[in-house]
Amino acid sequence: MAAPSPEVMARYEAVIGLEIHAQLATATKIFCGCPTGFGAPPNTNVCPVCLGMPGALPVLNREAVELAIKAGLALNCAIRPRSRFARKNYFYPDLPKGYQISQYDEPLAEHGYVDITADGHAMRIGITRVHMEDDAGKSIHDGFKDSDRYSYVDLNRSGTPLIEIVSEPDMRSSSEAYAYLAAVKQVLEFVEVSTCDMEKGHLRCDANVSVRVKGADKLGTKAEVKNLNSFRFLKEALDYEIVRQIALIENGGRVVQETRLYNPDTGETAGMRSKEEAHDYRYFPEPDLVPLRVSESWLARVRSGMPELPARKRARFISDYGLREYDADVLTQTRAASEYFETAARVSGDPKTAANWVMGDLMGMLKAAGKEISESPVSAANLGDLVKRMATGELSGKLAKDVFAKMFAKGEPASAVIEREGLKQISDTGALEKIIAEVIAGNPKQVEQYQGGKTTVINFLVGQAMKATRGQANVAVVTDLLKQKLG
Ligand code: ADP
Ligand code: ZN
Ligand code: MG
Repeated sequence: MAAPSPEVMARYEAVIGLEIHAQLATATKIFCGCPTGFGAPPNTNVCPVCLGMPGALPVLNREAVELAIKAGLALNCAIRPRSRFARKNYFYPDLPKGYQISQYDEPLAEHGYVDITADGHAMRIGITRVHMEDDAGKSIHDGFKDSDRYSYVDLNRSGTPLIEIVSEPDMRSSSEAYAYLAAVKQVLEFVEVSTCDMEKGHLRCDANVSVRVKGADKLGTKAEVKNLNSFRFLKEALDYEIVRQIALIENGGRVVQETRLYNPDTGETAGMRSKEEAHDYRYFPEPDLVPLRVSESWLARVRSGMPELPARKRARFISDYGLREYDADVLTQTRAASEYFETAARVSGDPKTAANWVMGDLMGMLKAAGKEISESPVSAANLGDLVKRMATGELSGKLAKDVFAKMFAKGEPASAVIEREGLKQISDTGALEKIIAEVIAGNPKQVEQYQGGKTTVINFLVGQAMKATRGQANVAVVTDLLKQKLG
């Protein structure tokens, strides 16, 4: 089908709602004591409960509930004092119980929102609900020829705790959906509810999308694109799907409600199952678990253990440290970066300069070395100390850069590098006067120009003095001394 023209496209708007699954960062599974670790040999982290043996009874993991409450609070939801688990029944080879334990009509948290900025405009995306559930196992398909094709089931993941975050259909473009997923991921990482490692499948997303003629008040029929495990795939799948649906309607067809899969190799989505063959999950209350009650005091305790959230931190960096909005944004992208900056700023006594160093030299070198900020060879306190040495005049900007490179390479504090390399800035006027006398004697032409009124020549003379000291002279002191001597 031909792609619709830009004029046709402009008559429509897309409507998008996301369902995000995040793996909770607990040490053990949601209803048993098996470890949740990644990469163990297949079917070793299992027990009768997560293998779905008849008669085995689930016991709810308190830590999982606390993390889910934190997620709810961080996403501005109301936490329900009473919620309830429900069985969601379906058959799948990697679902040994024959049902998932999820929440249905009484979720843990509801009525939240996150604020995002997309394409330069700020907006609020509503969150319908956050509920808890257990993950299924994993099917691994192997072999190419029909005669030599096998599927394997690994149940290590079975029973891993998840939260599902369901948004309102508030997004209107793939970039808004992208920004929303990024904002949710950032918040979950900040409160340490989930590592959100998309490569390991700790954060996955289903995208619901429909289109309608602009100004229409009814929503169009939606399609759901399942299991998007990267930001790029989310954007590509939505962009493809929006064009497909508009083209379909323009050609006299209609969108059918169905589940689709995105194929990154072709950049296209394809139907997987339609609503007619969709599952009837036959939800009913989980008889093996009592309703979950979250008391006022439990909620208060979890709330008091919440770290500062990114939006709040960003505002505080601007008001307390005088950072520009852009800088505050960059430095609050991750909790690790924000904590690194704040420690460096405190030690340095010069937050703005510390911010420049973190965003410039540090992040640049980390990127080149393929390292995360948490693996930085230069600790936050050591970077702060370096900045302080600049502020007090012990190191020039240029020297500090050299010292920093060596700190990064060797993992040493500034003091060790300065000591070994004899890199201290020369501020002592006695030592500098001798050098300045040489510079004046060696550059009579420039001295004459300066004295004839061309005062910018001073920069050349300062440069000569810096060169003579291998960059170790204090620029301010050199400039002052030169001006004095030249009258
Ligand atoms: P279902 O019953 O099919 O699971 P829900 O009402 O639970 O549908 O919604 C699932 C997700 O789809 C939510 O994120 C919601 O915002 C979104 N959604 C619902 N209707 C539409 C629509 N017409 N177009 C786009 N997204 C929608
Ligand atoms: Zn188990
Ligand atoms: Mg639903």
